[in-house]
Amino acid sequence: MSKKILIVGGVAGGASAAARMRRLDEKAEIILFERDEYISFANCGLPYYIGHVIKDREDLLIQTPEDMKERFNIDVRIRSEVTAIDPENKKITVKSADKGIYEESYDYIILSPGAKPIKPNIPGINSSRILTLRNVPDTDKIRDYVDNKNINSAIVIGGGFIGVEMAENLIERNIDVTLVEAAPHILAPFDSDMVVIAEKEMEQNGIKLILGDGVKAFAEEGNSVKVTLNSNKTIAADMVILAIGVAPDTGFLKDSGIELGPKGHILVNDKLETNISGIYAVGDAIEVVDFVTGSKTAIPLAGPANKQGRIAADNIAGFNKSYKGSQGTSILKIFDLTAASTGANERTLQRLGIPYKTIFLHPNSHAGYYPDAFPMTIKLIFNDEGKVLGAQIMGYDGVDKRIDVIATVIRLKGTVDDLAELELAYAPPYSSAKDPVNMAGFVAQNVLNKLTDIITPTEFKAMDKSDIILLDVRTEEEFENGHVEGAVNIPVDSLRSRLNELDKDKTIIVYCKVGIRGYIAERILKQNGFKAKNMTGAYNSYSAVEFAPGQEAVAKDSDEIVNDKGEALKPLNPEKPDRELDACGLCCPGPLMQVKSCMEELKEGQLLKVTASDPGFYEDIKAWTKRTNNELVDLKREGGKVIALIKKGMESIYSQYASEAAPVKDNKTIVVFSGDLDKAIASFIIANGAASMGKKVTMFFTFWGLNILRKHEKVAVEKGLMDKMFGMMMPRGSKRLGLSKMNMMGIGPKMIRNVMKNKNVSSLEDLIKAAMDNGIEIVACQMSMDVMGLKKEELIDGVKIGGVGYYLSEAEDSNVNLFI
Ligand code: FAD
Repeated sequence: MSKKILIVGGVAGGASAAARMRRLDEKAEIILFERDEYISFANCGLPYYIGHVIKDREDLLIQTPEDMKERFNIDVRIRSEVTAIDPENKKITVKSADKGIYEESYDYIILSPGAKPIKPNIPGINSSRILTLRNVPDTDKIRDYVDNKNINSAIVIGGGFIGVEMAENLIERNIDVTLVEAAPHILAPFDSDMVVIAEKEMEQNGIKLILGDGVKAFAEEGNSVKVTLNSNKTIAADMVILAIGVAPDTGFLKDSGIELGPKGHILVNDKLETNISGIYAVGDAIEVVDFVTGSKTAIPLAGPANKQGRIAADNIAGFNKSYKGSQGTSILKIFDLTAASTGANERTLQRLGIPYKTIFLHPNSHAGYYPDAFPMTIKLIFNDEGKVLGAQIMGYDGVDKRIDVIATVIRLKGTVDDLAELELAYAPPYSSAKDPVNMAGFVAQNVLNKLTDIITPTEFKAMDKSDIILLDVRTEEEFENGHVEGAVNIPVDSLRSRLNELDKDKTIIVYCKVGIRGYIAERILKQNGFKAKNMTGAYNSYSAVEFAPGQEAVAKDSDEIVNDKGEALKPLNPEKPDRELDACGLCCPGPLMQVKSCMEELKEGQLLKVTASDPGFYEDIKAWTKRTNNELVDLKREGGKVIALIKKGMESIYSQYASEAAPVKDNKTIVVFSGDLDKAIASFIIANGAASMGKKVTMFFTFWGLNILRKHEKVAVEKGLMDKMFGMMMPRGSKRLGLSKMNMMGIGPKMIRNVMKNKNVSSLEDLIKAAMDNGIEIVACQMSMDVMGLKKEELIDGVKIGGVGYYLSEAEDSNVNLFI
């Protein structure tokens, strides 16, 4: 007798199961039920249709019910929702838009109902301007809004894959986009030290990011939606895309006897069979085993859903197939950047208490001497036995290939030795003789063989730095262009002859730009009797983790660089620079060194156009031109490349600028060293006064002055004993400061506050707030914070962390510099 197989859900898992079932069993009766109108559509392509990248709507519809009937003899019933399952009588109930309610008997069922967007019970959530994206009708609705409803701005809530893809595609439609994420970072599969690269790319392409702030309420106001965040900040836009995650669409199973997990996922065994014999389940709706950690999880991705559909069909057809788990291999386009991950990340491993090691590296996508090589950042996670546990990669070229190779090694339970030994295809346009995957294996082997002791940038930031030497082994040029606070510079090539400058009793943390020179220096130091560690990922990874959204004005491709008066500067003949330099494929310090030697050959006022593929060049060239008195006329990114137009010297020979006087340095800088209430008040009064006269003011808080910036409430942060004691002895915030004179055991401050109130003089707290509102830069000295054991979280919001270098460069542009 032929089998009767019912399939619930007609897209990724369901359609895949149906087609496989037919190929295995020509005689079976197969009925596929789909609640909506479309089956087998391209969910993953939906955001790109909204962004006009996919032009034709028909391209989204991969199979029609008619095609499925013709080719696979499958009875597809669209607009047919399965509302209940009765395993005892082997029947299901169907609610059909055309036929009404009826029952259907079965021998087997494959459930693939997928997952639906989460819509929490927040005030105002039902506004018609708040949209979610799961299927074709949702897509049509969003497209209609964007095409026809005069939408200029959008807020995307949720920084998962769908949120990020939607944000990018709305930018493609020239919509002003703000993305709000409640967690400290977007894209949960990535660790915070990697995801910052993606966040920066998003900001540089015009997306405003609000991180660590969830939504409290929505309110429709005229043609826009006002969003109130947990911080009480409000933002508004013409539409909202809600993409805060998905939940299994399994409500219809609640009385079926099929076992569900705590969040409603269908529980299955390794054959993908539920607790009820003959009923299988696949796709986003099921709980799976994490292939790497063995824990239970849910991974809503198309690849696993399709493969599971095939396995369920195989098992019904009598093959004995097992699903061995999901490892979450995923990839995402973020403008020109590709972000990919596979296996476990640090967060998961920490949560499960699984020990691991991590390394970072920045190899080129292919041979640097062949055009268009781009560096990528690889984070590899492995254990003491060398087993590869996970990887995350960000870059502009060749990321997909490398993540897939590492994913394969993980699937085959391979080790870092396998990565090192893999023989991969090589010719200059495609790779290097040592592929980035091999390089990751080599570095990891060095760690396991104890040839190198590494420290990650995050570990370095958190460590007690009182008894270390931080050694920057890059060139002097690179060092001057920017370095980690507190570092001393001995370029690697002169290290052997300058070892006497270093203290053998201290641990030396070495860093370079990407890690290789640091490793060489570490080897030199260790073999000369020093204790040394190399910062993995080096300055590139260190500066990446420094990123916080909104810290700096970032130029979009379309943005014009403006002069001090806010007027747009346009190079007179941008197409015809006096010299062009292609620095693509060059790793640091290559691009800067070449820029320097080219500029030496140019005359004042001549233009150099530089193209570089090192993403770090974007920041490097800004700092270099500022430091060397050359003018950065234009800076943009195109296809992952950084293009800079630099004019030699400060004096312009162009008539466009001829009438402009040399820039006047009239900023004001105030070093606030004192933590006395009266001096703090005086500092802020002067600062606010200068700001109100239109001057740029930077206040640099160091030593006792830092107490003014402390939050009043206690903040739970991890600290050593000394730091804790220090913290307890110092006043916590502006309200607890004493007077420099007549303090009288705290009576003085109360009196002065009272007098100020009576005479309508703003309190210190109001003055601080006014300073922030006036755009005064409040900078806390990193070195003093380290010395006093203060953490960033303990300081009031809006404070920038900076080093002496930052203060000095601001002071250079000032004509008043006070020390209070
Ligand atoms: P679905 O494909 O969602 O199919 C479930 C179907 O079941 C739905 O059509 C639903 O209407 C129907 N259904 C539900 N309940 C019933 C019922 N009771 N009766 C009848 N029918 C029912 N994954 C990737 O790996 N890469 C990507 O780039 C990617 N991009 C995505 C972009 C978007 C916008 C979306 C929404 C998803 C994306 N995904 C991506 C996820 C991927 O689409 C899903 O993992 C995959 O489709 C899951 O397959 P599924 O069969 O479990 O569920």
